[in-house]
Amino acid sequence: MQLNILTLPGDGIGAEVTREAVRVLEAVARKFHHELNLSEGLLGGVAIHKTGKPLPDETARLALEADATLMGAVGLPEFDNAPPEQRPERGLLGIRKVLGVYANLRPVRSYKALIESSPLKNHLVDGVDMIIVRELTGGIYYGTPRGISGEGPSERAVNSMVYTRHEIERVSRMAFQLARNRRRKVTSVDKSNVLENSQLWRRVVVEVAREYPDVELDHLLVDNCAMQLILNPRRFDVLLTENMFGDILSDEGAVLAGSIGMLPSASIGDKSPTGAWIGLYEPVHGSAPDIAGQNKANPFGAIGSAAAMLEYSFGLMKEARAVNDAVEKVLDSGNVTADLRPAGAPATTEEVGRAVCSYI
Ligand code: NAD
Repeated sequence: MQLNILTLPGDGIGAEVTREAVRVLEAVARKFHHELNLSEGLLGGVAIHKTGKPLPDETARLALEADATLMGAVGLPEFDNAPPEQRPERGLLGIRKVLGVYANLRPVRSYKALIESSPLKNHLVDGVDMIIVRELTGGIYYGTPRGISGEGPSERAVNSMVYTRHEIERVSRMAFQLARNRRRKVTSVDKSNVLENSQLWRRVVVEVAREYPDVELDHLLVDNCAMQLILNPRRFDVLLTENMFGDILSDEGAVLAGSIGMLPSASIGDKSPTGAWIGLYEPVHGSAPDIAGQNKANPFGAIGSAAAMLEYSFGLMKEARAVNDAVEKVLDSGNVTADLRPAGAPATTEEVGRAVCSYI
């Protein structure tokens, strides 16, 4: 099969972990006889430096042409005080919009080898296996009106949480469909005791649930959900929520998995004319300026994202399983980066990538 993949390494450790994910894709292509056609684009701070824009038009064009896009991370401290439209993170919101990827899938599971890496008690974390489905192109991150106006004591800031019925329906269907291949349970998270936006969210999710009578649905308010993710994480199978709540809650997944560096994500849109899901794949973590350039970053989130790409965008289940099995073997070997607190000397980013390839 021809795999036409765009890589967007981005900033900081984004480039380091993407390099290892590409190394793994190359190993998969060799082993399973696929033709890997890689192109590379600019996104984030590196794109601002080279072109003046966080999402250059050329990058948007390349992403629309590719079968799938593998991203690293964006963000550089030097832009922390820049206006929002000139920040690297704007490139990320832009590429999601360009590709129309409206559902962000974040699998969170505990690995036996990492059970001691989580600060939570073992009996809470053991057996956790959930997928967080976060709506990605609507809600308060995109809603208008927005902005800061006025000055002095009356200076004010406005953001708008906006959802249409259509946006809620399509991401809900994605969650229910995923649940059918899992433990058949969807937990929808909202703040319907306070927000009208959440009241519409809950009403539409209940309506969509009628199309899936074989899937159980329950609801949690977001504040309670934040607590339940720590107190009783095994209760979750598919967790469905809107953009900002999902952004915040999914970082709790890092605590369950042992390190934010472990978490992959897949952002999925509609199907392309060829029948494949249009997808943007990226680790959950950011550019980690504190460890950038030191060959210390955990590449498993990026490698897991490459596995998700093989599964969702190319339908290559055997290949995706080979990657995930290889990751598990490396974890069992203890040859892992410092964030996972190995017993011996920590491995480098590159050593971990090469170890995954050797098991493939
Ligand atoms: P971060 O995820 O970059 O880092 C948080 C902490 O986790 C740091 O201590 C970091 O060293 C550690 N960490 C993150 N990934 C790791 C990995 N793979 N291996 C080992 N340790 C890892 O979040 P932050 O510090 O809040 O943000 C830094 C920059 O990244 C900011 O500019 C932010 O806007 C950006 N950011 C980008 C994305 C993205 O591109 N998707 C996501 C989150 C943050």
